[in-house]
Amino acid sequence: MRKDFSKYLDKEGMIELACELIKKRTVNPPGSEYLTKDIVISSLKEIGAKIEIIEKDKTRPNILGYIGEGKPSIAILAHMDVVPPGNGWLNDPFSPRVKEGKIYGRGAIDNKGPYAAGWAGIKAILKSGLPFKGSIILGAVADEERGSKMGVEYLLERGFSPSFCLIPDSGGIKKAIIGEKGLLQVCFSTQGKSAHGSTPRQGENAIYKMIDFLPFLKRFKFKGEYHPAFDEPTLNLGEIKGGEAPNIVPDRCETILDIRYPLGMSKENLLKQLQELIKKSGAEVEMRVISFNYPHLLKEDDPLISAFRKAGERIKIKMDFGTAGGITVAKNLYFRGISSLSHSPAEENMAHQANEYVKIDNLLFCAQLWAEVIYELLGEKQKHYLHSS
Ligand SMILES: [Zn+2]
Repeated sequence: MRKDFSKYLDKEGMIELACELIKKRTVNPPGSEYLTKDIVISSLKEIGAKIEIIEKDKTRPNILGYIGEGKPSIAILAHMDVVPPGNGWLNDPFSPRVKEGKIYGRGAIDNKGPYAAGWAGIKAILKSGLPFKGSIILGAVADEERGSKMGVEYLLERGFSPSFCLIPDSGGIKKAIIGEKGLLQVCFSTQGKSAHGSTPRQGENAIYKMIDFLPFLKRFKFKGEYHPAFDEPTLNLGEIKGGEAPNIVPDRCETILDIRYPLGMSKENLLKQLQELIKKSGAEVEMRVISFNYPHLLKEDDPLISAFRKAGERIKIKMDFGTAGGITVAKNLYFRGISSLSHSPAEENMAHQANEYVKIDNLLFCAQLWAEVIYELLGEKQKHYLHSS
């Protein structure tokens, strides 16, 4: 019987790699992913990878390590930029701490720890000596927290096209995300007329106009059918702006609604429902779309899904597959025809929070599971291991 990959996991090396990456302040903006470049390159050299750097800007490298050659290929892409630390940290967010089985620090889960887990998983495959075809790619990419223009989008523009891609940036330990809702951001605005605050009757207050509309928006729900793999559409009124000073009648007010919508609903229909709402409210409100992308869902019989299912069975866990409202680069990859899903060492949503951490056992679990997934997709099982049981 084939030994499982857990025997070959370099736990200490993985922890050290995660901590070294966390130490680098790759806060986006501005990103500065180049700070992690030497660490990434030496980690890739250690596993014998051929290195390719694709960068639009010297300070924003995307670093890819290739093991093996040609297709089929599977890439694990983790991003090196992090969100600003914010307040509430008990320790310096860029001085990683290992305590009670957890690594604490900005980027521990999002997304430097998962890079280290991918590295440990690939290293375990190589140590096991099991033969595989095609290539395994481990990538440290830039700019995920600000739209990936310098990151995955740039790689895709330059022709990056693996057969499969694993994005360790969403989902949980036993749940892979195979579809993501679409995003629709709409700005509502009202127009008024400015006047001195001491003579409000001479002006027209744009904030009051918005206030007339908001109760309608608060109670509003989209109607319509959608794909059963998804939850209902969500609405978040996330921004409101209006007025410049207490002594001026505001002539403009804007509010931004963030909608995450399931497969089966269309942008046109959602906008039509919002237009009807404006009409019903009787308020003088203009509406414009400021951001938009489509929902997506991997086909049920995608080899990447069956590889996860079988890999889970091998290590005796049942993998779940679901969809999410959060959007990752798996969507960009999917729309370029690359089978992609997200799976991560997260148990609860720790990303973007103070005292961000990742459990070391979860990193090890992912390393082992991902090694099994890679082996399911690329392993030369028939030739050499047909007789194992
Ligand atoms: Zn992330």
